[in-house]
Amino acid sequence: MTRPLPDPGHELFAPFWAGTLEGRVLVQRCDTCATPRWPVRPICPQCHAEGFSWHELPDRGVLHTWTVVWHRTIEELPPPYAVGIVEVGGVRVVGGVVDCPFDQLRVGMRLRPVFQAVTPEVTLVQWAPASPGRATEHQKARAAEEEK
Ligand SMILES: [Zn+2]
Repeated sequence: MTRPLPDPGHELFAPFWAGTLEGRVLVQRCDTCATPRWPVRPICPQCHAEGFSWHELPDRGVLHTWTVVWHRTIEELPPPYAVGIVEVGGVRVVGGVVDCPFDQLRVGMRLRPVFQAVTPEVTLVQWAPASPGRATEHQKARAAEEEK
């Protein structure tokens, strides 16, 4: 049995899911005032403009808060697992926090996105402690680009 998955063809979220397939976390950014929007929404919460472009988030965020799920609430997701709110690029995103013992989770710790291909169409984003030796191919390419 597979876990519940998002609809990668959803009208509003399709560009986000296309980004995760490439190892990129994309959010909307207002074309009028540049405020990032997450979750996806039809108008800017700051200036109420509709226009937006998709914008890649930085590859480092900060753990704002977290919880550890100890009770099974989704049949296909066996506990325990950590879920965090990550501040990144002016938005807060919710995601699993992986590769870190629960007793080492700290508010303010630096995290990086990690990408978990679940099906050919769906790649989920989770967050792991930032560590330069474990960047994704996309992050390596971007770092190399920034060094030029
Ligand atoms: Zn705006």
